[in-house]
Amino acid sequence: MDAAQPAPRSVLILGGGISGLVCALKLAEQGRAVTLLEGSDQLGGLGTFFEHDGRTFEKFYHCMLPSDGPLLGVLEHLGLTPEIYWRPSSFAYANAGRIYPLNTPVDLLRFSPLPFADRIRVGITGAWGRVCSAKGLDDITTSQWLQGLSGKRAFATFWKPMLEAKFGDRYHDVPALWFWTRFNREKGESKGEVKGYIRGGYKRITETFARRLGELGVTLRMNEKIESIDLDADGHPVVQTAAGELRADELLITLPWPTLAKTATAAFKSRAAVPSWDIDFQGVINHVLFLKRPLTKHYWLATPEPCHPFDGVVETSTLTDEADRGQGRHVVYLTKYVHRTDPRFTQPEDEIKRSWFSALQKLFPDLRDEDLEADYIFRAPFVEPIYTRGFGRKRPPETLIPGKVSLATTAQVYPVVTSWNGSVIQAEKTVGQMS
Ligand SMILES: Cc1cc2nc3c(=O)[nH]c(=O)nc-3n(C[C@H](O)[C@H](O)[C@H](O)COP(=O)(O)OP(=O)(O)OC[C@H]3O[C@@H](n4cnc5c(N)ncnc54)[C@H](O)[C@@H]3O)c2cc1C
Repeated sequence: MDAAQPAPRSVLILGGGISGLVCALKLAEQGRAVTLLEGSDQLGGLGTFFEHDGRTFEKFYHCMLPSDGPLLGVLEHLGLTPEIYWRPSSFAYANAGRIYPLNTPVDLLRFSPLPFADRIRVGITGAWGRVCSAKGLDDITTSQWLQGLSGKRAFATFWKPMLEAKFGDRYHDVPALWFWTRFNREKGESKGEVKGYIRGGYKRITETFARRLGELGVTLRMNEKIESIDLDADGHPVVQTAAGELRADELLITLPWPTLAKTATAAFKSRAAVPSWDIDFQGVINHVLFLKRPLTKHYWLATPEPCHPFDGVVETSTLTDEADRGQGRHVVYLTKYVHRTDPRFTQPEDEIKRSWFSALQKLFPDLRDEDLEADYIFRAPFVEPIYTRGFGRKRPPETLIPGKVSLATTAQVYPVVTSWNGSVIQAEKTVGQMS
């Protein structure tokens, strides 16, 4: 290095999910000295994996969409594009024991749980949602917006159960902007839905990141749980882990927001430019089933009726190659969004496994006990904010303390859908403001 040049400012990144990994890559490529601290033994956060029968599978179902441009750009940069494959994908809705495909206008016209007039109104809602402006949607609720477009009856029968499945009784205040962006992401393909996956699973992505970060000289410190984030007498950030105290010129936090709110000291909070620390998060339980037979041809089957203990049946093997899951093995994720304080979140694993599988058998009466090869339960307390009206004004900024502390986390991704793509967009924005 040129003796006259000052050494590049060092950066300490907290959290090794996709946000932390992308930030580390971008900053290291700018020549910054980067250290990344991850509390668990795996990189990838909510996209991490478990092993079964010599293969790895995501703990929580994950796929890509063709509209995930920024994420696909990073994967291209890492040389992973040839490993991504795409398949047509479909959605269905369970009602009173019947499964209704809902992918085309004709499907909607055949959706008999709704009176015919309501089917037309739901169709118009979808068509309007694709073309209308997002302006003002942060300040009205999804319920108001959908009731206005689809009518009260169609809202109660069709939309409300899906909102309740995602946010429980907190759905009332979720802004229409959240719904609008989500609907347009999922239904963004005019020529039919397509989803993408990567050979070797998401583990392949995090392993490629780890290799590249190693080449760039990034220090990855695993199993280092952040216990507190403070400021010293000169206002410099100080991070405490079980291994001791860490300092750097700059701190970049990618931890889930509730973890940051818990570990940040009062001194830190008083200096950080945050509109509101009060952002609650939704959690999730996934019950992963390895089956010897397929259930449906749909990637996603919504099961929002209260008789089902889960909100959706996600048959990822409609997307993934046999090479990635094993010959004759079908992979299904039963998913339930639930707050960490809800007793269901801490229900014993055996109870969940038993009651959810038997509920699935009610929906698929020909599913036998012998069809199940193995199953696993995974829970995550912090998935995404429970959005409230005007969330755009609550959204934390990229810079918490100028020149010292930056932030790239899921709580900022809004109104983009929380996803690996949303995290890449946020990470690039935050790093852009640090330069
Ligand atoms: C059920 C489910 C399905 C999903 N499906 C998809 C999908 O199909 N496609 C898609 O793109 N996205 C999907 N997502 C969303 C996606 O996983 C997230 O938006 C994304 O992973 C968020 O990344 P992140 O790095 O911001 O946060 P996280 O992934 O939460 O990473 C945070 C990291 O911080 C670490 N950490 C936490 N506390 C500490 C601490 N105290 N000390 C040190 N480290 C700590 C964690 O271990 C973790 O590695 C899904 C999520 C879930 C739960």
